[in-house]
Amino acid sequence: MIIVLRPDATQQQIDHIIEKVQKLGLKVHISKGTERTIIGVIGPEDLLQVTPLEVFPGVEKVMPVLAPYKLVSREFKPENSVINVGKGVKIGSREIVIMAGPCAVENKDLLFEIASAVKKAGAQVLRGGAFKPRTSPYSFQGIGEEGLKWLKEVGETLQLVTVSEVMDPRDVDLVARYVDILQIGARNMQNFSLLKEVGATQKPVLLKRGLSSTIKELLMSAEYILSAGNFNVLLCERGIRTFEDFSRNTLDITAVPAVKQLSHLPIIVDPSHAAGKWGLVAALARAGVAAGCDGLMIEVHSKPEEAFSDGAQSLVPENFSSLMQELRRIAEAVDRTIL
Ligand code: PEP
Ligand code: MN
Repeated sequence: MIIVLRPDATQQQIDHIIEKVQKLGLKVHISKGTERTIIGVIGPEDLLQVTPLEVFPGVEKVMPVLAPYKLVSREFKPENSVINVGKGVKIGSREIVIMAGPCAVENKDLLFEIASAVKKAGAQVLRGGAFKPRTSPYSFQGIGEEGLKWLKEVGETLQLVTVSEVMDPRDVDLVARYVDILQIGARNMQNFSLLKEVGATQKPVLLKRGLSSTIKELLMSAEYILSAGNFNVLLCERGIRTFEDFSRNTLDITAVPAVKQLSHLPIIVDPSHAAGKWGLVAALARAGVAAGCDGLMIEVHSKPEEAFSDGAQSLVPENFSSLMQELRRIAEAVDRTIL
C-alpha cells in the first residue's frame, strides 16, 4: 500500500503518519519526489484496516499496490533507484555504467591484464566468476576463494568495482567479503534460499533473469531480496530461451523499457550471454543502450581461444575499446553518458 501525501503536507503531519503506521508493527519506506512525498507501507496491510489513513491531515490518497511485486514496483517508489556500488560508482542515474571482464577468473596475471584493458576503455566494474555454474559437472567449475582474492586485489589496485557470482547460500558471507557486487546467476534466479540470504546483507546484488523466466518472475525474485531488507538490487536481462538457435539465447530487448515502466530498479543488459557469439555482441550492446539500459555487462578476454569458459562470446580488448566509442555516441543520442 502507498500513502500519497498532499504537496503542502508538513513534516509534522508526515511524522505523525509514520509514527501511526510503525506503531501498528508495519515498516515504512519514504520516497521524496520533487512534487510530493509518498510513504510505502511494508508488511501485513490488513493491520491498517481499522485505521482510516485517508482522514489523516496531509494525506491525499491511500492506494493499494496492485502488482504482485510490491517494494520493487514503480507505484511503491516512483523515482528511479540509484544504487551505490562502491568506489564512487552509482548505477541508475544518467550515467550508463559498463561492467566488463572475463567469464571466469583464471589466473591473477591474466585478470590484471584484462582488467587494465577494460579500465582504460572506460569500464568501471570488473566482472569475473570464481564459482561457475556449468551445465556439465565435468566442465571447469571455477577457481573458488583464491579467485575472489585476486579479484579484490586487482579491483583495489585499479580502482575498479568488482562483481562475482555466488551460487550457494552458504557462500554469501565469503563472496561478500571479497567483492563489491554479488551476482545471482540466471540458473539461480529462483533459488529462494539464496535470494533471502543475499537479502539479509546490504551488499548490492546483480540479479540475472532466469533462462526461461518471465519479466514478472524476475521482479518477484527481486521482491524476495527487497523484502528481506536489501534495496540495493540491479536487474539483468541476459537473453532467454526461444526456438531460435542461431544465437545462444534471444536478447529480450523489450525487457528494458518494460522493467523501466514496472520498477524503479536499474536494468543492466548482458549482450554476451544473450549472443553466445562475439560477432553479435556489439550490436546487442548498442541496442541495450538505445533501449534505455542503466548498464552493460560484457565478457572480455585477451586470449578468447584459450579461455576456460565462454571464449566464443568474449570480445578481445581492442574490439571492446572500439565498441565503447560507439556506445558513447549512442548514449549521447538518448541523453545519457558513458565514462
Ligand atoms: C555469467 O555471468 O558468467 C553467467 C554464468 O551468466 P548467466 O547466469 O546469465 O548464464
Ligand atoms: Mn560467461
